[in-house]
Formats: sequence, structure tokens, C-alpha cells
Amino acid sequence: MFKKVLIANRGEIALRVHRACKEMGISTVAIHSTADSNAMHVRMADESVCIGPPPAAQSYLSVPNIIAACEITGAEAIHPGYGFLSENANFVQIVQDHGIAFIGPTAEHIRLMGDKITAKDTMRKLGVPCVPGSDGAVPTLDEARKVAAEIGYPVIVKATAGGGGRGMKLARTEADIEAAFQTARAEAKAAFGNDEVYLEKYLDAPRHIEIQVFGDGRGKAVHLGERDCSLQRRHQKVLEEAPSPVIDAKTRARIGEICADAVARIDYAGAGTIEFLYEKGEFYFIEMNTRLQVEHPVTEAIYDVDLVQEQIRVAAGLPMSFTQRDLVPSGHAIECRINAESLPDFRPSPGRINTYYAPGGLGVRMDSAIYGGYAIPPYYDSLIGKLIVHARNRELALARLRRALSELVVDGVATTTPLFHALLDEPDIQAGRYDIHWLEGFLAREES
Ligand code: ADP
Repeated sequence: MFKKVLIANRGEIALRVHRACKEMGISTVAIHSTADSNAMHVRMADESVCIGPPPAAQSYLSVPNIIAACEITGAEAIHPGYGFLSENANFVQIVQDHGIAFIGPTAEHIRLMGDKITAKDTMRKLGVPCVPGSDGAVPTLDEARKVAAEIGYPVIVKATAGGGGRGMKLARTEADIEAAFQTARAEAKAAFGNDEVYLEKYLDAPRHIEIQVFGDGRGKAVHLGERDCSLQRRHQKVLEEAPSPVIDAKTRARIGEICADAVARIDYAGAGTIEFLYEKGEFYFIEMNTRLQVEHPVTEAIYDVDLVQEQIRVAAGLPMSFTQRDLVPSGHAIECRINAESLPDFRPSPGRINTYYAPGGLGVRMDSAIYGGYAIPPYYDSLIGKLIVHARNRELALARLRRALSELVVDGVATTTPLFHALLDEPDIQAGRYDIHWLEGFLAREES
């Protein structure tokens, strides 16, 4: 097992990884920008290295500085968390070329799934059901017109290199295709430096259901059921739950086995998430994330596993600590993403937190790196905490969530907490009756 791991991230996820390491007797190295000198992930780590100025491009994304931090401290492995360099195949290659272990899949697997067209093609060949669409990239507007007519409107134009909901445009009818095609390309070019796009049939009212998979890199893999992440704003997840209110045990086993089998056949190593849209009983693959997800704690809660420790084990060459038979879900878990943003427009609200009180009690987990007196820097993502509750069933989990939310105090900055209070009052949420558009509709009603 590794003796020292460098955590190439910040905020709650850096702390999450630190905690996993400490329980395994591994010492930790934090990296930070000058804006994060007083951050909790730096305070908690055994050692820390300042790797640059506030802009992420010069610090958390600076590969030479991160490698240097490893060499200075003698860290044997890097955990990337999510975001930043977690899905950067070139980074993984450089890490390995320096004799450092990367806690995650191989560079080849990241590359394979990072290109959405190749990912879809690979998955289709592995027997995973996909959204109907263009076979590969659509290089010209004429071609887009042709393909759209074939698959039938509405269609969605998506960036091959896409992520974070960017570079995605809907064309309801033929009249929209030109604008959708050009804007998606321009957005993709600006965000990813790659303007390649493809077309997919636009599903009208699907749910976003994703399957957690885990592989040992040597042909064995398991699934840990699904997460329902349908509550989204601008294609970004806001609240996640597991299990999904609409997936039964039989369906879970069927799609879970398809996914586990697919990743086993490519010798996938570590944690991965296969994302689907789910409509009228059918699953449609949209993408695979080759990393830990923000919402992984809901899976940890119902399966009683530590996914980060499992990632570390597999990266160190050990076998997985569970088999499919060991993985039996229990109860219901819900996660709320608490952002430092002011409602109703979700404007980022960085600044100093005067008082922070974290909810607690049975079945409550608060993953956060904030503290009273902490100043949230304006340079990074606005996620400041994740509140996760677990209870015997969904109804009890909702009651526990309401109770836990009412205990949470983040004083000094605006947060998205009021949104979750409001959601809990909605009959549709209580009944688990929502699709990927529900939240946008709700927010529009609230504003008017
Ligand atoms: P990203 O990598 O940017 O997150 P995804 O492909 O995972 O992009 O899609 C993000 C979200 O966009 C989905 O959860 C869903 O809400 C919406 N979406 C993507 N593809 C489709 C589609 N074919 N039809 C309808 N909605 C879609």
C-alpha cells in the first residue's frame, strides 16, 4: 500500500480523499493556490505545497507544478478528485512517466471515454443501449440537416469534447438547426478548443439515471446500482438520490449487469459512471465519466462502501474488497449540493462566512471544507458543501433531509439552501415524480 498520497484538488473533495487516506494509514499531501493558503484541505493534510497563484490554470491545472510537488514530498500516488485534471489523459500519462501511480483508470480509458463519439461507439459495441443519432461527427451544416431529417426532430447538437453541460444545443424543428449547429460549435470551440459536434435524438421527458461501476483493471467489475440525477439546472445536477424512485430491483440488475460486463470486457480500473437517459422503460447511454462523481456519497450510503478507499486499493494493485454478491443496497439516500450562490438567479456569492454550523445526527453526512471565518475565494466552483442523508426508506429520508437542512447554518454568504426547503414542499418531489426538465419549470414558476 502507498505510504503517501498527493491530493490534486481542493475543497470538499480534497478533504473527502484525505479522510479515506487517513483511515488507511496513508499520509497526505495537499496542494493549494495562494488563494487557498487557509483552506481546510490544507490545514488537515499532513503536508502541503503551494503550487501557484489563484487562477486554476496556473495552480490546480499546472501539471509541472503538481509533479514537482510530488517529487519534493515523495508522494507515490496522486488522487485527482473530480474536475480539474481528473479526466485529463495527458496528465495521467505524465504522472506515470514520472513513476507516480495515478488513482484512477488508465490514460487510454480516459481518452476513449473523453471523446463522446468514440465512447458511444465503444459502448454500442459492448452491448450498451445508446441514444439514436449520427454515426460519428457531423462536419457540415448540410450533413447536420440530413442526419436530423433522418433521426427526426427534435435533435440535440452536442460537442464531442463536451462536459459540464456546455456545447449542447437543441433544435426543435428544421428552422432551428442552423443556429443550433453554429452555436454548439462556437461554444465547443471556446470551452474545449475543439469544435467537433455530433447529433442525437432529443428525448422529451427522460430521467437522468447513472450506473456506478467499479473495475479491478484485470477483467473483473461490479456495479453499485443507480443514482437518479434528474433534478438539473442548465444540465447541471442539483439534487441526487439513490435508488431512483422509478427503478425496481429487476431493472437495476439488468442494466447494472450490462454496465459491469461492458467495463469488465475493457479491463477498466477503478470507479466509473455510465450515464443514461431513461424514458418509457428504456435506457439510452449518453456518456461515461472515468472518475469519482460529486454525488458518489449516495451510493456509499446505501451500499455501505467507501469508494475512495476502493479506488486507492485497486490503484495499489490489490483486489476489490467486494464481489457483486456482497453488494446489496439498503434504504434510501439523498444529496443536496449546497452552493454559495444567491437565489433566484444563482449568482455566485463568494465572501466571508461568519458562522457555520453543520447538521448532524443519525444518517446525516455533511461533506464540506468550510468553517466559521473562512473566506470563499471567487476563483473556483461555487459548491461549498454536500448534505447527504440516509434512512430506511425514501419517505424517512425526505423527513431526515428536511430536519438536517433546518439545522444547517451558513451565515455571511448567500447559499442555495432555501431552494431545497422549497423543493421538499413540492408534491412532485415527495412523490418522486420528476424528469430532467422539472426543475427548470419549477424555477420559472417561482420567478413569475
Ligand atoms: P455533459 O458531459 O456536458 O454533462 P451529457 O451528455 O452528460 O453532457 O448531458 C448532460 C445533460 O444534458 C443530461 O443529463 C440531460 O439533461 C441533457 N441531455 C443530454 N443528451 C440529451 C438528449 N439526447 N436528449 C435530451 N436531453 C439530453
